[in-house]
Amino acid sequence: MAKSYSCPKCRAILNPHDDITLIAQRDGEKFLIGFHPDPGNYEAYLPSDLRTEKGELWCFSCPVCQQDLASDEEGELCELELQEGVEKLRVLFSRIAGEKATFIVGPDRKVTQKFGPDAERKSHQLAFMKYNLD
Ligand SMILES: [Zn+2]
Repeated sequence: MAKSYSCPKCRAILNPHDDITLIAQRDGEKFLIGFHPDPGNYEAYLPSDLRTEKGELWCFSCPVCQQDLASDEEGELCELELQEGVEKLRVLFSRIAGEKATFIVGPDRKVTQKFGPDAERKSHQLAFMKYNLD
């Protein structure tokens, strides 16, 4: 089923075709980044001359309203809205380069799915137990 991602601030669709396009920023550099629409697939599309370093904290913002997409509850994560069929969900993923941790959060703020080899460790490290992690 097609996944539609949108900005939690302005509601603009962030994957009009397939990949999710965001503005990425680190150390004064600003560029567009494309993410694979399947949670847990960490393929990312970057300008070819860009070098990334593991452990860097990246800022992601919406290409339409330009607002910061860091989660209000847990700033190390980026938060997007995800609609799949009639289901309205939130997806949170790590803003740290090289860290593979993605969480799907249901309407009751409960984490329903986790993806990535770092998700388990991350979920214990973060204060977002208010999300009712199982
Ligand atoms: Zn926006």
